[in-house]
Order: sequence, then C-alpha cells, then structure tokens
Amino acid sequence: MALTGVEIFKLLPKTNCKKCGYPTCLAFAMKLAQGQVSIDSCPDIPEDIKQKLAEASAPPVKPIIFGVGDKAVKMGEETVLFRHDKRFVNPCVFALEIKDTLSEADINSKIEEVINSEIERVGQRLRIDAIALTNDSNNVSKLNAAAKLIATKAPDVPIIICTGNPEAAEIAVKQFADKKPILYGANPENAESMASIAKNYKAILGVVASSAFGGSGGGLDELSAFIERIKSLGIVDIVIDSGARKAKDILRDNTLIRRAAVKKNFKPLGYPIITFAQRGDSLIESIIATIGVAKYSSIIVLSSIEKWKNLALFTLRQNIYTDPQVPMQVEQKIYKIGEPKPDSPLFITTNFSLTYFIVSGEIENSKVPSYLAVMDCEGLSVLTAWAAGKFTAAKIAQFIKESGIENNIKHRELIIPGYVAILSGAIEDKLEGWKITVGPREANGIPAFLRSKTT
Ligand code: SF4
Repeated sequence: MALTGVEIFKLLPKTNCKKCGYPTCLAFAMKLAQGQVSIDSCPDIPEDIKQKLAEASAPPVKPIIFGVGDKAVKMGEETVLFRHDKRFVNPCVFALEIKDTLSEADINSKIEEVINSEIERVGQRLRIDAIALTNDSNNVSKLNAAAKLIATKAPDVPIIICTGNPEAAEIAVKQFADKKPILYGANPENAESMASIAKNYKAILGVVASSAFGGSGGGLDELSAFIERIKSLGIVDIVIDSGARKAKDILRDNTLIRRAAVKKNFKPLGYPIITFAQRGDSLIESIIATIGVAKYSSIIVLSSIEKWKNLALFTLRQNIYTDPQVPMQVEQKIYKIGEPKPDSPLFITTNFSLTYFIVSGEIENSKVPSYLAVMDCEGLSVLTAWAAGKFTAAKIAQFIKESGIENNIKHRELIIPGYVAILSGAIEDKLEGWKITVGPREANGIPAFLRSKTT
C-alpha cells in the first residue's frame, strides 16, 4: 500500500529547512502522500530513502507514454477504482484495427479514417488515437508492407503491432523504432524473443496470457506470473491483456486487475490494460467498447470506425475522464466572435464551458461580430455564480477594467445576462461611464436581441 503522510514524514530529514517550498517537513510529507509534489523538491533526502519513497508514492497503475510528438498519449497513472473518489487520470486510447490482409487501397482508406476522425467537443479535440496493425496473414512480408504504408502515410499516429511471430514483429517494429510503438503478442512461448525486440526498438511490450491463444490458461494468476517473467527480462513498459474477449469476462478481468493494483498495490498487474473489442456487428462492438471505457481499459481496439460510433465513444470517454468535482471551464479572457470592430457589441458571461459554448454559438448564429467577456467564476453557470457571490457587480467591474477591452472598443456598453438583470444598476455605479444593457435570459434569445439592436 502507498505510504501515509505520517509514514513519509518519518523518513524525511526533519530539519524544517523550507528548501522544498513548504514550511515544515510534515507539510511536505502530506503533499507528497497526495501526489501533489515531486520527491525531488527536497534536496536533502538520501538516495536510498528517495528510492524507497519514489516506489511507495508511485501510482499503482504505471504511467506509460505511447507514441511521440503531439499525438502521443499517456496511459495508466490511475489511483482509484471509482471516479467519485478521485478523477480518472488518462483517458483510454481508441485504436482502429488494420489487418495486413487488406488491399493497399483499403489500408489507405482506413488510415484516412483515423487521420480524419478528429472532432471538437466542449473545447477538447477528440480523435481515434492509434492504429493496431494485425498480422492476420501470418506472413512476414505482408505485415512488413502494411507497416511501411502506415509509417509513410500516418507517421505521427501511435501504432500497435500485433503479432506473435518474432520474425514478423522485428521487421514491422523496426519501422517505428523512434516512435515508441507497442509490440503486442508476447506470450509464454515467445517471451524471450519478443522482449529482446521490444528492448532493441524501445517498444512497449503487450503481454497476453497463453489462454488467449487457445491454451488452457490459468487466468490472472498465470498472467501475473508471466508479467514477472517479462520484467525479469528487463522490460519496464508493459500493457496487459488477460485474454478476455466476451463482455462479461472483460468486465470481470479488468475489475480484478484494477482492484489488485489499486487496493493491494499488486505490482505485476499495475499496468495499462489493452482490450480487443472487435465484432462483426458495429453496434455490439460499440457496447463492448463502452465496457472498456467505463471499466479500466487503457486501450480499446475497434474493427471499424464510423461517425456515429466515434461520437458516442468520445462523449462517454470525455465524461468518464472529466473530474466530477470540477466543472468544465474555459479560460478567462475576452473572446472575439467573428471579426468584431470597435463599435461591435460586448457581452459578458461566466466561464462554465457549457455556458460559454452555448452563448458563443448563439452570437455566431446571429452573424453579428461581437466581443464576449468570459469571467472566471470557477466554472459555475451564471445564476449559480451570482448566488455564490462570484459574479457580482464589483467583480464584473474589476474584470472589465483589467481586461483591456476599453482599448478595443469605442463605445462603453456592456450586455449582461438577463438572469442577473438585478446587477445592472450596481455595475453602472462601479463602472463609471458605462451603460449596462440587460440581455436575454436564455442564450437562444441572443440572435433576436442582436437583430433588434442593430435595426
Ligand atoms: S526541504 Fe526537505 S528537509 Fe527541508 S523542509 Fe522540505 S522536506 Fe524538510
């Protein structure tokens, strides 16, 4: 189990020297126990203790970065079983399967689907993150040719090479040697060769219990013993597959794996989980994938992607991996909607993401270029922020004065949400020389409001 703050404190120098930025060693220990500070912030901890503390404070699911560059994805680093205890940290990766038996044209069109899968939702860019190239042909040159095509057409998309054949694995993985790929398919029969390839080409190794290959299998006991063997071969970055393919087995194994890692700090199972959700029926495949999203898969492999399916899976993933204790927020600033001029209207609202997107969307619909002042109210909506004393006349006046908007507009009119009409007089008192106009209560009234203002 992870050490408590007091247990960590006992190992610290106890000089209260403050070099870490905290007033006492105890305060530093408490922050370290919560994972909010790096152990390196204290320069006086002896190396052996540092190692002990680093191990004890490491997250139970190992963080691993898959891929390189802008499209690299971080997996693992999870610390809880339930998102109401603490948020889930790194959203699962969706990967599209590309079989090496496909024609060149079909491989190209699958690559295009992945590249064009990105959408924007509530301010976040969401996409199919990776490609899983499978060696269905069981033929070395076919896998090699497909790998070459992907390396050329989608050089920055993280890739999983799926094969149990070390010869095919080496030829394909070689082409992604500097891209931190995943080599999936290490099993008890090929362990040494696959581990050596993963080490040579700096790949993450995907391990699977022999039961997934049709053997009798010993479930998670067999898997954890195998992972210990893989670690003894010098492999540190691992993703694990229990071999489960049916929905109920995925749910059972993923839950047992996460529980063992988080509750028992059982290191052999403290790695990101890969789930193969492929099905002939896309609807069934989506349902299998949702189990992986909700219950602990770090990678979910899909056989096909379609817009409806992506939207459903992206939305679920976004919601599962959003901190339920922190409302989604946008940055406090003056946003330009369209290309506003010095005489364009100026609206104000709060920084709750949904509020921002609805208000900015309605201003855009009105086709009247405008400024939208978005004020930091800790992600609360207008009425809630007002009730909580965060969207008050004094704070609005101060924000407008400090925003610099007075340099961009020649009028002095601020449009406030109809729900806080009550603030108009008080804002006028605090913002000297400004006229406060009460806008519509609901954002969908903005186009009509702007039309009547401009005619
Ligand atoms: S730097 Fe180290 S010794 Fe100094 S107060 Fe912080 S934890 Fe204690």
